[in-house]
Amino acid sequence: MGSHPVSRNPSDFPSSWRTPTEASDYRSTPDYAETVRFVERIAETCPEKVRIESFGRSGEGRDLKIVVVSQDGVFDPDALHASGRVVLLVQNAIHAGETDGKDASLALLRDLVVADRSPELLERVALVVIPVYNVDGHERRSAYNRINQNGPEVAGWRANGTNLNLNRDYMKAVAPETRAFLRLFHRWLPDFFVDNHVTDGCDFQYDVTFMLDATPDVDPPLATWIRSVVAPGIQRYVEAGSHLAFPRQIFLRDETDPSQGLRAVDNAPRFSTGQMILENRPGLLVEMHMLKDYRTRVTGNQLVLEAVLQRLNEDGERLIRLNREADARAARLGTDRGSRFPLVVTGGGEMTQVEFRGIEYSRFRSEISGAMAVRFGTTPWNVSLPMESGATVEVTVALPMGYIIPPPWTDVIDVLEAHGVHVRRTTAPWTGTVERYRCSGMHWPDRPFEGRFPILRRSAVEREFGRFGDCVPVTEAVTYPSGSAVVTLDQRLSKVVVHWLEPEAPDSALRWGFFAPIFEQKESGEAYVLERLARDELTRDPKLRTVFDQRVASDRQFADSPSARLDFFYERSPWGTANQVGIYPVGRLMSLEGLSLTPGAGT
Ligand SMILES: [Zn+2]
Repeated sequence: MGSHPVSRNPSDFPSSWRTPTEASDYRSTPDYAETVRFVERIAETCPEKVRIESFGRSGEGRDLKIVVVSQDGVFDPDALHASGRVVLLVQNAIHAGETDGKDASLALLRDLVVADRSPELLERVALVVIPVYNVDGHERRSAYNRINQNGPEVAGWRANGTNLNLNRDYMKAVAPETRAFLRLFHRWLPDFFVDNHVTDGCDFQYDVTFMLDATPDVDPPLATWIRSVVAPGIQRYVEAGSHLAFPRQIFLRDETDPSQGLRAVDNAPRFSTGQMILENRPGLLVEMHMLKDYRTRVTGNQLVLEAVLQRLNEDGERLIRLNREADARAARLGTDRGSRFPLVVTGGGEMTQVEFRGIEYSRFRSEISGAMAVRFGTTPWNVSLPMESGATVEVTVALPMGYIIPPPWTDVIDVLEAHGVHVRRTTAPWTGTVERYRCSGMHWPDRPFEGRFPILRRSAVEREFGRFGDCVPVTEAVTYPSGSAVVTLDQRLSKVVVHWLEPEAPDSALRWGFFAPIFEQKESGEAYVLERLARDELTRDPKLRTVFDQRVASDRQFADSPSARLDFFYERSPWGTANQVGIYPVGRLMSLEGLSLTPGAGT
């Protein structure tokens, strides 16, 4: 990205066209009504280039809006794609206290459309901006919502109207906002996605940090383009505008000791940019540094958006082709026997030394926390630090041709449909050979996370919840009733299907508890009935005596529990196995032979 940044001093503009934030000298951010009034003014001034549309309603009933900017007044997504235009979707304020992107977008829209500066940035790109995504959180305004953050004076709340973090909801798609986003996304099918945030975490010199995934689960040619072209280009452009950028999220390995270096970051499908991996699209996470003043952050965020626009104009043709090929590759996953799909990918695996611009600090033992603590000063600390880099594929899976889900699992099927996955139904009962997992050893957490009790892996920003046991596939003949849902991997959203239905995937339906009932034993024997059963079983199978005695001798907890000792016999009897505990009901299909299905090919 060679040319110079196009953002400019806001005082260049007549004061009537200052954004509300500029007009406040960056002390405040407008509420939703004022935000919408500003973009409506732009649309009224330049109706030939700007259109505002609604894409749904929040939980509290507010209108979710997009601003579409198109140089020649073509506002139809299909027509834009047909004309070879790149569609860029920018999302702001999913965490509604983090409004830098919103105020940067208002300034950018004004600069591009009203001031008509840098028309070349719209030549090959249609821009779609969500000014405020989490509108209900945005209107829960307070001076006490963002304790770490240096302005604006009053800010919105992190979560939505039911206190769900929308940036953990992409895969499970429970919130109305998420469902509206998925409809919007599939109507527009953007070529590139930006999600604007503000950091938490430690102090450093950079005001712009950003993350573009290029891990082994990203379509490889897209990953190469992201790594070699986009990320360095954004960094160069931002720094040419006198801001300082670091091309990844910054988390310390030890929060009380910056000298230990930087920690790896994961990106599961519960996050917006993790969802983009499943959509076969590049997703840029922007994290402006919370301790910088609001003016620095808003203008820095605008530079990032301009950098993306510039890159997409220069490289649009290539990106469109890469996306098309990534979609086609995804639609072949079900025919790709032999290779294994990277199901669980974690950051890290390598250590790299990195030149880091930190802030000088001191460490001390705190009499308040009783632990070591850190106090940041003000002088630069330029240092070479170890950084966890690379990515590790921890779990792979051989993919089937598709999956079959019994019809009563309506919530599970509903999430796939909300994601725009093509779901067909059987029109007659079907008996055939499938693989079904036998799952055991799950430890469910004792506290909620995002309104559920999921089994989740640790990520950089979350603790571990519960513990995943084992799921072992068994090949067997199973009968599925008429109306069962069949999802095949011959569609562009095949990775969504795999991540939702393979139990060990980081945000699978099983991990989020959608299949929790399969782990419940619904029938049990009374003690005096099991006494009789146990004696009958011991007579019938003398070897069982040895197994039982060994267990009593080796497992104190078992030996001390009368019910566990009786259940030992119940579980092994036909009455026990009738409970089908841990049998994952979804079948992995190796062919569609003999299935009568509702019509329609994959999309
Ligand atoms: Zn955030």
